[in-house]
Amino acid sequence: MTDHYDVIVLGAGPAGYVAAIRCAQLGMKTACVEKWLNKNNKPALGGTCLNVGCIPSKALLEATELYHEAVHGFDDLGITCTDIKLDVPKMISRKDKIVSELTGGIEGLFKANGIDWLVGAGTVLADKNVSVTDHDGGKKQYTAKNIIIATGSVPIELPITPLQGDAVVDSSGALEWQSVPGKVCVIGAGIIGLELGSVWRRLGSEVVLLEAMDSFLPMVDGQIAKDAQRTFTKQGLDIQLSARVTGSEVKGNKVIVSYQNSDGEQQMEVDKLIVAVGRRAYVHGVLTDEAGVELDERGLIHVNDSCETNVPGIYAIGDVVRGPMLAHKGSEEGVMVAELIAGEHSSVNYDVMPNVIYTHPEVAWVGKTEEELKADGVDYQAGTFPFAASGRAKAKGDTGGLVKILRDKNTDRMLGAHVIGPSASELLGQSVLAMEFDATIEDIAHTIHAHPTLSEAMHEAALSADGRAIHIANRKRR
Ligand code: FAD
Ligand code: NAD
Repeated sequence: MTDHYDVIVLGAGPAGYVAAIRCAQLGMKTACVEKWLNKNNKPALGGTCLNVGCIPSKALLEATELYHEAVHGFDDLGITCTDIKLDVPKMISRKDKIVSELTGGIEGLFKANGIDWLVGAGTVLADKNVSVTDHDGGKKQYTAKNIIIATGSVPIELPITPLQGDAVVDSSGALEWQSVPGKVCVIGAGIIGLELGSVWRRLGSEVVLLEAMDSFLPMVDGQIAKDAQRTFTKQGLDIQLSARVTGSEVKGNKVIVSYQNSDGEQQMEVDKLIVAVGRRAYVHGVLTDEAGVELDERGLIHVNDSCETNVPGIYAIGDVVRGPMLAHKGSEEGVMVAELIAGEHSSVNYDVMPNVIYTHPEVAWVGKTEEELKADGVDYQAGTFPFAASGRAKAKGDTGGLVKILRDKNTDRMLGAHVIGPSASELLGQSVLAMEFDATIEDIAHTIHAHPTLSEAMHEAALSADGRAIHIANRKRR
């Protein structure tokens, strides 16, 4: 193993491992430092996303949705399921197996691309030196022409609700329970709160989400957020807004949660508490003063549009820098930085960033919301199409939700796409592509969508934004 590299990447989450692979593809001698130990105390690649984030949460969301359907949904289809048994430890082991297959897959990709995995914690020193401390405390120093910091983020801890065993947990802990708790409280009705709240609700827990803000999913288009709140509430998620948690105490096998709402101080007794109040950039032990890399006022590594820090040749990508904390955002930044280092032109189009909440129905969006367009004074037209009018959604027995397309009246360009409904995450792809290609609504109107598919709802919503949808009554006809 050499001590000098063209590129050393710190962190092998979706930002760092993708950056390392792209660097190696472009012919650079690349190393990636990663310190993660999995729950069996084995070093693992993949970061938050593969180990305790996107993948394990989706594995449980898929399994619990099927369980819930089998118990509550199949009857309508003429299928009677009797004697359905739930094996939570097996569900958790399946999730673990998926995680280990995928993290092992990254290891295979590193080998195939000739990337050296430096196992341990990396620290950036002066003059692009990197010190790596292995898990036995041994230290070794390396140098690099370029450094990419991709050390990600960790859950924000609330000092007033300290984590405690499996009773008061963060998102990682809530992926590990071996039995279904009677009552779960989640602090924060954000993305993690809704996804993990849904997992345990589907398995039978009573779930209460306490949210400090007075609005629900403020980053989501208002019409879609309203639909989501109504639907999730109907599913039994007890979403309480303007409810700020002020403390928690574990008493025996119960947790007492204290919170404030418009009626004053409240207390609630639950079996488990999930703290899901956001994530913060992880820079602990990553930088020395001598490295000279500046942070911004929020503790994120400060970077320019090319993800370069104030120190030439040191870059930072993913959750540790500004922008949404999303795996695909970090990966795209990783590709861009690798290509820029290789002397190629590259950029990330932050205006066309897909977002998904993997509840059921899923909530997915790209571009501007109607509220943002109003605030910006844009001359737009909204077109919607409900899944209740989609033949495929009816056939699936999954007719909740709608598609909404926002169109610039002057240029006919798509300004935003918002979906709540079945497979919203997959459906959104065509709108992301349309916006990336600067397509007009006319282009989408001309695009033939197979029948019967859910994607016809996207087509119809786009037509509706131009007053010419076929399968709903248009208010304005062209
Ligand atoms: P990370 O994935 O956090 O990886 C950083 C890596 O750096 C870690 O492996 C860490 O061990 C390592 N590291 C840190 N310091 C050092 C050091 N000094 N030396 C060596 N290594 C170091 N996003 C989505 O887009 N879709 C989803 O569905 C989704 N679901 C999520 C569900 C949950 C429960 C959670 C918690 C997050 C989810 N996210 C999702 C967010 C997503 O996981 C993050 O945005 C993504 O992992 C960020 O990637 P990253 O590479 O920047 O950082
Ligand atoms: P979040 O910011 O989405 O939600 C946290 C919520 O907690 C906020 O609404 C906040 O008002 C509330 N809160 C904070 N303190 C509180 C208190 N004392 N009492 C009550 N409520 C309080 O954060 P998250 O849900 O923890 O997720 C973190 C990040 O991880 C997300 O921003 C997202 O970027 C990423 N993530 C993405 C996905 C996905 O893409 N599907 C899934 C999970 C996580």
